[in-house]
Amino acid sequence: MTSYRWTIRDVLTATGGSLVSGTDGREFAGIGIDSRTIESDRIFLAIVGESHDGHRFVADVLSKGGQGFVVAEDQAVDLPLDRMRASGAACVTVADTTVALGDLARFNRNRKPLKVLAITGSNGKTSTRMLTEQVLSGKYATLSTQGNLNNHIGLPLTLLRRAPQHEAAVVELGMNHPGEITRLGGICQPDVGIITNVAPAHLEGLGTMDNVAAAKGELLTTIRSGGTAILNADDVRVAALADGCPCRVLFFGISERSGIRAENVRPDGKGLVFTLITPSGEVDIRMATPMQAMVANALAAAAAGEVLGISLDRIKDGLEAFSPGAGRMAIRELEGGIRLLDDTYNANPGSMAAAIETLAAMRADGRTHAVLGDMLELGDLSHLLHRKIGRAVGEAGIDRLYAAGRFAFEVAEGAREGRMTDDRIFVGTKAEIIELLREELRAGDQILVKGSRGMAMEEVAEEIVRWT
Ligand code: ATP
Ligand code: MG
Repeated sequence: MTSYRWTIRDVLTATGGSLVSGTDGREFAGIGIDSRTIESDRIFLAIVGESHDGHRFVADVLSKGGQGFVVAEDQAVDLPLDRMRASGAACVTVADTTVALGDLARFNRNRKPLKVLAITGSNGKTSTRMLTEQVLSGKYATLSTQGNLNNHIGLPLTLLRRAPQHEAAVVELGMNHPGEITRLGGICQPDVGIITNVAPAHLEGLGTMDNVAAAKGELLTTIRSGGTAILNADDVRVAALADGCPCRVLFFGISERSGIRAENVRPDGKGLVFTLITPSGEVDIRMATPMQAMVANALAAAAAGEVLGISLDRIKDGLEAFSPGAGRMAIRELEGGIRLLDDTYNANPGSMAAAIETLAAMRADGRTHAVLGDMLELGDLSHLLHRKIGRAVGEAGIDRLYAAGRFAFEVAEGAREGRMTDDRIFVGTKAEIIELLREELRAGDQILVKGSRGMAMEEVAEEIVRWT
């Protein structure tokens, strides 16, 4: 789908900026922020990023035929304005180009009615976004976040892809400090806000779990009037956000109070089956993942479908069409009869606990191995939370633990507290773990590999895939 065209007049209206070169009638095919890939029929917006300042590339873009620019007022003196004027290029100055990017995105969102669903939470944002997209696209032309573009740059870029045909949008909102969700919600102005859960994550920026919950809760204040909040009834901190929520609340979960419920969750081959119960009826859903926590994500997506008037049949089709993204509890059946649970995309205590629970549920099928890397960014609570995860591994009856990273000893210590015997616990580097696994693994084994993004645990997973 081709996204909306932009006149410079649109840009001025959206940003409140000033035209310092060219005329406001000029029209462009879109807006971009990457000087390396931008096409000459697009407006180049210069972002000041962590490592690069887009203003340094304005001259380049102009030389390559760029004819539209949005730049910061205080940078304008250093830019080739004379050359711009000589070539007839349009240039708009604004106080802050990152704010302007959000303003342009909001303008694009509001060109014509669009149902926007925004998803936040500590875990499951991307999975829930993908599930919701599957459900909605049964009825609506749906725009959706790509990859993990969920911050103050990624969200606007998503909304800038909005085309006239789009009727709905599902966007992910990430955050690591207070105020961020308010800002992102202000840009996308959701009709529906979904909060998946609150887990200890980004504690370095937020301090306590209650602060994490409050920061997610900011989403509720940004929902449009007449909109709906979709909240996880099984997460006490999320459920508590319903008190004082300014809009209608729809709960999802296992608990009885939920409008959208799962009953009788049971394993089924490589996946799970559960009965989805909604105000419009009941239906059995078969999920292509063994991960229990994914049922909660599916319920959130079903709730979104219910709010947007999608039939139960289409909700079922959407949920069943979903397959988890790479590194998100993806089951890989390897030659030699080994089953790899690749959850290497990322980790925090919430998703770690969910992954261990899933591995433990597979014990009936064969020996279980947990290869765990550090969970990063947990601040002062790091020691405690790693020990807790170790204890969960021990108590779940996992057969072998392999821990890598700065906090590996804490994980091992926790496992001992959880009654795992020393001969089943191994602490070492990723390379040492790989060597050991090469000797240890045999047919029928099931192995979970997981850790924070910075631990790059996929190196272990890929090595196992290579030799089996
Ligand atoms: P990030 O903020 O790192 O992008 P995210 O919130 O987008 O994460 P996903 O990418 O869906 O989440 O999943 C990340 C990890 O959390 C994976 O390991 C996945 O298995 C696990 N996970 C997904 N959903 C849940 C859930 N509802 N509860 C706990 N863990 C979950
Ligand atoms: Mg994500």
